[in-house]
Amino acid sequence: MMNFVPFDSPQLSRPADLVTDISTEVVEFVMELADLMGSNQKIAALHAVQVEHPLSHLNLFVYRGTDGSAKAFLNPLVVEASLVRIVHEGCVSLPGCDFSLPRPAHVRVTGIDLDGNDLDITPTTPLETQIMAHETDHGLGRTILTKVRKDIRDKAIRKLTKRIPSAALLNP
Ligand SMILES: [Zn+2]
Repeated sequence: MMNFVPFDSPQLSRPADLVTDISTEVVEFVMELADLMGSNQKIAALHAVQVEHPLSHLNLFVYRGTDGSAKAFLNPLVVEASLVRIVHEGCVSLPGCDFSLPRPAHVRVTGIDLDGNDLDITPTTPLETQIMAHETDHGLGRTILTKVRKDIRDKAIRKLTKRIPSAALLNP
């Protein structure tokens, strides 16, 4: 089973690369991500950048469809976003931290699926809208830490650093 990268991994703060070839390795990686998501009901979606894997630089994520099955989304791009609402949100990469932050009330996201078919999705539920916005942000190198005020972010980083003692040594 793959490991999650720590909250301060550079992977989480740089833009992911476009998937240009849906190779067997990419398909297998997506299956592994889906397995990892499936192993924990609290995980609604998972982006490649959140795990340790040779292909974690790619811009792709898996999420739970409304029917409960795992779905893959490659090269997600928000092409429309409107209205902003305040939501309460957490992230697997930032254990124990959740914040109130602004999210669009409506998004339209394009990309491709694992077969290379075009995707053009306008989620109909608030949760799915939030997931699309959250995961697309991961592909841009943005976690929810970038969406909150500096004092809130600093406090969260102190808390996260305490949870992972080695992080303090690596980033004095
Ligand atoms: Zn996340």
